[in-house]
Amino acid sequence: MKKLVALVAALSAVFAFADTYPSKTISIVVPFAAGGPTDRVARDLAEAMRKPLGDVTIVVDNVLGAGSSIGSNRVAKAAPDGYTILLNHIAMATMPNLLRNMPFKVDTDFEYLGMINEVPMTVIARPTMPAKNFKEFRDWLNANKGKINLGNAGIGSASHLCGLMFQNALQIDMTAIPYKGTAPAMVDLMGGQIDLMCDQTTNTTAQIEAKKVIAYGVTTSKRLTTPALKDLPTLQEDGLKGFDVSIWHGLYAPKGTPADVVAKINRALKLALKDPDFIKKQEALGAVIINDKRVEPAEHKKFVAAEIAKWSPVIAAAKEYID
Ligand code: ASP
Repeated sequence: MKKLVALVAALSAVFAFADTYPSKTISIVVPFAAGGPTDRVARDLAEAMRKPLGDVTIVVDNVLGAGSSIGSNRVAKAAPDGYTILLNHIAMATMPNLLRNMPFKVDTDFEYLGMINEVPMTVIARPTMPAKNFKEFRDWLNANKGKINLGNAGIGSASHLCGLMFQNALQIDMTAIPYKGTAPAMVDLMGGQIDLMCDQTTNTTAQIEAKKVIAYGVTTSKRLTTPALKDLPTLQEDGLKGFDVSIWHGLYAPKGTPADVVAKINRALKLALKDPDFIKKQEALGAVIINDKRVEPAEHKKFVAAEIAKWSPVIAAAKEYID
């Protein structure tokens, strides 16, 4: 009888908890610098999820470093109560392939909450780069072997993956300059301290339009429809066979977060993805909102596992360019 009473008490505590969720500020951990492309997705999403979660306050907490593993680990180890969640991108699939000592496990340390969007990348260079088009840029890279500085957001980041693929496709070794996100890398690129980087259009569109950097190509297999970027050739058109990188984003909670809480966050995410304001802001930056079964936690999880397998041979093929 005592056991039964204890069980009923425990169960009602769980249900009461889910019933009242959320009752305090939710923190979305972004594992890259503020003002960068991942941060941009998170801030727009936080705004769109606020109402569906009953007008709760949602803050974005930038926990930086080590190609997003520090922030991701923070969430993996956080209380599983739905108040600390992670927004990360393709790094969830590249980190396991690139980091030697992963402090957490992508498949078992998280509850998957659903995917958000896909964002193409652009290859951009400092404004003083003398090349007028991709061919001239390639010639410049070939002529400057050994002196080229390539910015990225740390090992395992999207810009790191894209940079590896770019070096491997051109067979040109470049010096990787890691930052805690591509927001600070962009500042140095605009200032001419580094020569080039790959970065998501959520960060590069405005700078390309303002001619603060020069864009030489888009990393997806198809040209973009975003007005500011529609004339940009794909890297495939430029002769880089099979080059196709698009950066997806998803939400994660610590393993053990109650199922009802996971369902509430997932429902709010799905409503946010239909919010015309969110769609408009993200599409203007080249993002494509997920509109398929990958918004469901189980499908999100399957997709990430498939991406880990997909990128493993690509990264292995480019291993000589990993600094
Ligand atoms: N663009 C960064 C990356 O390469 C992410 C960021 O700075 O938000 O992964």
